[in-house]
Amino acid sequence: MKLEHRTELYRRLAAINPNPRSELQYSSDFELLVAVVLSAQATDVGVNKATAKLWPVANTPAAILALGEAKLRDYIKTIGLYRTKAKNVIKLCEQLLSLHGGVVPNDRKALEALPGVGSKTASVVLNVAFGVPTIAVDTHIFRVANRTGLAPEKTADKVAAKLGKATPKEYLLNAHHWLILHGRHLCKARTPECWRCSITEFCAYKAKTPAAGVAVTQALKGKPVASKQAAVKKVATRKSAAR
Ligand code: SF4
Repeated sequence: MKLEHRTELYRRLAAINPNPRSELQYSSDFELLVAVVLSAQATDVGVNKATAKLWPVANTPAAILALGEAKLRDYIKTIGLYRTKAKNVIKLCEQLLSLHGGVVPNDRKALEALPGVGSKTASVVLNVAFGVPTIAVDTHIFRVANRTGLAPEKTADKVAAKLGKATPKEYLLNAHHWLILHGRHLCKARTPECWRCSITEFCAYKAKTPAAGVAVTQALKGKPVASKQAAVKKVATRKSAAR
């Protein structure tokens, strides 16, 4: 994708959401770190539900250690892989206290040395808590980067490296959030909502989802459409709402 198109793509995402924020609920670096650890292979909504009950009871390394692994497990048991995550969070709290005075380190190597913290989690914490311009590639960013042609690659690491180079400097700090939110709420896995997408003209994805009316017309003409069923359903819903 040409530089001018990449720049315009980000400019539009930025115009829609000038101050993008993580959808995880947290009020300290420690809460952020634990929430990101818990969010691996889980949704932010699910993590927020669990932490809404956990934070008022324990939101520091010492308080989580005092709570103990069994009780921590109870608070997070609705989250996937909760047993392993509970173990990791307990060890993470121990290490934060013994090695970092209970403070979340502002350093990739130190973060990645913590139990349950991989490069993706470290990137998110560095970006969100410390303003480091990193892009952690999750499933949403991977999809958006490939569909749009912004950074088409086969692995998350390669996408991350390519995105780092493809993203104009002025947009690097918030690129992570813009792309993740775009993927989560608009460029969805099953049916991307291309008909209302602000970056559609820069997007290389061929099977763009047309607006419902157009999709139905195409379907009636026997032309293949990306989401015929969804389109028909949408039109029916709109008609009944208009009645
Ligand atoms: S046009 Fe469609 S596929 Fe492309 S970024 Fe927008 S929603 Fe995603």
